[in-house]
Amino acid sequence: MKENKIIKNAWNKYTEGDLLNLENFCNSYKEFLSNNKTERECVHYFIEVAKKHNFKDLKEVIKNGEKLNKGDKVYYSKMDKTLLLAIIGEEYVQNGFNIIGSHVDAPRVDLKQTPVYEADGLCLFDTHYYGGIKKYHWVARPMCLKGVVIKKSGEVININIGDGENDPYIGFSDLLPHLWKDQAVKKAMEVVEGEQLNLLVGSRPVSSDSKIKNKVKENILSILKDKYNMEEDDLISSELQVVPAGPAKDYGLDRSMIIGYGQDDRVCAFTSFMAMLELKDIPKRTCVCILADKEEIGSVGATGMESRLFENFSAELINACGDYSDLVLKRALQNSYMLSADVTCAFDPNFPSETPRQSTAFFGRGVAISKYTGSRGKSGCNDANPEFLAKLRNIFDNDCVNYQTGELGKVDQGGGGTIAYFLSHYGMEVVDIGVALQNMHAPCEVASKADIFEAYKAYVSFYKNMK
Ligand code: MN
Ligand code: MN
Repeated sequence: MKENKIIKNAWNKYTEGDLLNLENFCNSYKEFLSNNKTERECVHYFIEVAKKHNFKDLKEVIKNGEKLNKGDKVYYSKMDKTLLLAIIGEEYVQNGFNIIGSHVDAPRVDLKQTPVYEADGLCLFDTHYYGGIKKYHWVARPMCLKGVVIKKSGEVININIGDGENDPYIGFSDLLPHLWKDQAVKKAMEVVEGEQLNLLVGSRPVSSDSKIKNKVKENILSILKDKYNMEEDDLISSELQVVPAGPAKDYGLDRSMIIGYGQDDRVCAFTSFMAMLELKDIPKRTCVCILADKEEIGSVGATGMESRLFENFSAELINACGDYSDLVLKRALQNSYMLSADVTCAFDPNFPSETPRQSTAFFGRGVAISKYTGSRGKSGCNDANPEFLAKLRNIFDNDCVNYQTGELGKVDQGGGGTIAYFLSHYGMEVVDIGVALQNMHAPCEVASKADIFEAYKAYVSFYKNMK
């Protein structure tokens, strides 16, 4: 795997052993993706695996007044939707952290808070979509219902319907092409409108008793009551998401790609988390892994990266290391390096004018570095410093990591953002780097296995070598 620089396509450099490692890694990734389709499921999964690798709950460390030493591993969960992990390094904490931050929320369709209604003999759930989706992608396909209902007592009811072997599907309907004369000439944004995303969940009346109104709705409510011991009112304090059904699978006759829901940004969440587990020796610098919620709606809220969550976590970490002062915290953050690990768009020969060959990432050429994101003249983005990019090139070349540059499509065609600029508030060096996708934000996104593997290697290299 030498002379990385002249091998543009990562597939060309792999030995038999490399290919075996790549397939094993991608198999674990597909399993993760298939079983974890909400941020809560992802956070639960990561905590479970982290515990097996001797990570301690930072909340317990704080409560017991314990001290953290070199090599200690901790995690901190916020509402089970954002997870922060750290491994305490050899160096003094003021020297800063090596941070990789991704997000575990994904575009989907959420239930409204009073969702259940009956219309014309059908029971439906009213919804409001989450994140930037092309709504016509989400109709006429099998869907799952996942999330939590919190009862007044605080009891948490977990809902997970659709991916179990004997589970029913649910879904959104679409108009048949025989009758789409008016729909066919609508603008794409209006082909399916937000208020038309009503989830069909039932069609059978509870009984023939003419005194009962809304018999189909009553039947659905009684099923929910039997299965989950919940009332309709309990949905007021629920967080339920409609997500695509079915597992992630290999894609392509050559099996070189993976198709599945939620790869933005669980592909970077999984690879960066696995990179942290790969740190068998105590790292030189303290390493932090951020798995954030709410990125798809602007990183707002207490579990989003706009909050003080990360700063508070860093303060607790430094305090548990026995060094806390406001100045130490500020210095540690200012001296940190961060990879904002998020997906970018892959070149698509079906849309060459929106994805210019010169500046877009290609499948198979490795992890994609985006110096900037934003839109209309880089507006709202973290434009990374070239000094930092040069350091990254150096460590990646030394570790034979395939990387490429990737801009999010054609100038002035649209744009996007990541969590990069929230961390750059602290004066640290931040750059966007992740896996290129086709079909981003569609129910089934596609990534190259080689790019996934190179992202993982890049993240390991960053944790170990960046200084
Ligand atoms: Mn993303
Ligand atoms: Mn996104």
